[in-house]
Amino acid sequence: MNQEHIFIVRCGEVALKGMNKPYFERMLAERIRKLLKRKFDRFDVKRHEGLIFVRADKEYDKEAIIKEISKVFGVASISPAVETESNLDAIGEAAIEYMNELIEEKGIKTFKVNAKRADKNFPVKSPEIGRIIGAKILIGCKVLKVDVHNPDCLLFVDVRHDKSYIYQDKIAGFGGLPLGTNGKGMTLLSGGIDSPVATWMMAKRGMLIEAIHFHSYPYTSQRAQEKVEELAKIVATYCGRFKMHVINLLPIQEQIVQNCPEEETTILVRRFMMRIAEQVACETGCGMLITGENLGQVASQTAEALVVTDASVQMPVMRPLIAMDKVDIMDKAREIGTYETSIQPYEDCCTVFLPKHPATKPKLERILASESKLDCDKLIADAVASRETIDIKPE
Ligand code: ATP
Ligand code: MG
Repeated sequence: MNQEHIFIVRCGEVALKGMNKPYFERMLAERIRKLLKRKFDRFDVKRHEGLIFVRADKEYDKEAIIKEISKVFGVASISPAVETESNLDAIGEAAIEYMNELIEEKGIKTFKVNAKRADKNFPVKSPEIGRIIGAKILIGCKVLKVDVHNPDCLLFVDVRHDKSYIYQDKIAGFGGLPLGTNGKGMTLLSGGIDSPVATWMMAKRGMLIEAIHFHSYPYTSQRAQEKVEELAKIVATYCGRFKMHVINLLPIQEQIVQNCPEEETTILVRRFMMRIAEQVACETGCGMLITGENLGQVASQTAEALVVTDASVQMPVMRPLIAMDKVDIMDKAREIGTYETSIQPYEDCCTVFLPKHPATKPKLERILASESKLDCDKLIADAVASRETIDIKPE
């Protein structure tokens, strides 16, 4: 039969983009090509009538290809399919062969045909195609019966002008928009559960990613940084290779501890992180910042604290997790594969000088007064200049 795997990839939301549709589809096909190239070399990706057709050498594991394609943002669903000539005899024959395989592999007993003609010039209308193919299957596969309510196999027949396709599964992708269609953001990446998920969510909407990570070496260990790199690599399997800037925050933390009220330490540190990230973002063409902050999760994420943190920068700050519950964030982390790495117990720079009673309702004037005791501009400039940049490649 077919010497190649064929996958029909549906673009979901990408298809809604009106005039931009061809651009989004082109970007999506390009992303699929890029991702597949990491693991396979004998494959082909083509756009056709609002769908993307992926063909790959039959030698490759079908599931492995599906797994890669489903990681591409913008993919709504994938169906491994069989291709036939666009006439009812050929479709019927292919359908019988397809069903016989399913009887053998899965022991199916009932089916229903759902036919659709994309080619409106095809001489037979969709319901009639369904009836004809269904009748052919009943004759060709004696053990099968039709069940229109709860079939073991719902067989889709997609009749197109040049070729037709038969499939049963629609494997869901993540949806979203193709990477590179929505600007570039600087994500503040810690070793925790939240920030990798936040980064993933923005990338899912088409945003390219650059990252910044702060440590307090030697108070935080080399191993803690390696953990963040591991997390970044997992995120990169979705959003491709990106740069991560690594900065030692300790000189700033020491200045804060020596000169400012203890309960303000956390919020002051966070404002520095944001300002440093903003400068690096400006230098690297990022239009916004991304954090994993979540309303009310910790002292530095109360409504009041977020307002004071926000006031430190001009750049918009994206907080995609702001209203999510922690259990849902954890589920998402498991789904995308970052959870197990995130929960490894390593110290974070935020916990190094944790005050006993952090201010949960900080006042901006008080915080500004504390900052006036520091040479903020110089501390920030030195931190930005001291950064080390790591190239993060997918695992
Ligand atoms: P996470 O699970 O993302 O670490 P968290 O609940 O521990 O979140 P915080 O430590 O208060 O929250 O940090 C809030 C956000 O600030 C993080 O989601 C991340 O975006 C950023 N952040 C925290 N620590 C660092 C760090 N060491 N380097 C870069 N960004 C950080
Ligand atoms: Mg953290």
